Amino acid sequence: MYMYLVDHIPKSTPHNRRPGLLIEDQWITVHNTANPSSTARNERHWLTSERNDVTASFHIVIDDKEAIECIPLNEVAWHAGDGSGKDSGNRTSIGIEICESGNYDVTLDNAAHLVASMLVERSWSVAQLRRHYDWSGKNCPRLMNDKGDWSGWTAFVASVAAKMDEGEVIEVLKPEDANTIILFLSAAYMSTNVPEARKEFNRLANELRKASGQPPEPN
Ligand SMILES: [Zn+2]
Repeated sequence: MYMYLVDHIPKSTPHNRRPGLLIEDQWITVHNTANPSSTARNERHWLTSERNDVTASFHIVIDDKEAIECIPLNEVAWHAGDGSGKDSGNRTSIGIEICESGNYDVTLDNAAHLVASMLVERSWSVAQLRRHYDWSGKNCPRLMNDKGDWSGWTAFVASVAAKMDEGEVIEVLKPEDANTIILFLSAAYMSTNVPEARKEFNRLANELRKASGQPPEPN
């Protein structure tokens, strides 16, 4: 598994890398970084590096350890190489960069999980996946292309679909919902003096806190 970090580049980032335009998102576009040694952190750092003078960016970069969201998913990033027209990949898709460094099998599995969870969250299907290649003809994601044979891409899409079918991807419980349920549990807790029952209510409340990304509380 991987950590999901949010580390947005500032709106003032040079070369218009975060234009702040709202995205009409209908697609997820998949890329490889085309850099065999860079990690997700390296790619995030490059977006705000003083040595970087190109107008190119992406939403999320993922490696074998973490996914970093670099631009808010409701804003445009420049990753599809097809301009800024209304129907361009840049204006209509969320760009995911898959790192080539580290344990690539783990990275690929992480990426499939990330993409599957994003599709589930949006009630989308794998029909909404695109390669960078589909927008501009660039050989990207290059590690899924073996001299014109895109079976690596087909396998990736199948892996995403399998994760969606197997229910491996479940929506995370929202903290507000968890805390509302915990309020009901508290009422049940207060209505009993049986120690075992109270202990069980505490345990359930902590399970809800964990499931929603909140720290458990001591009993
Ligand atoms: Zn690309």
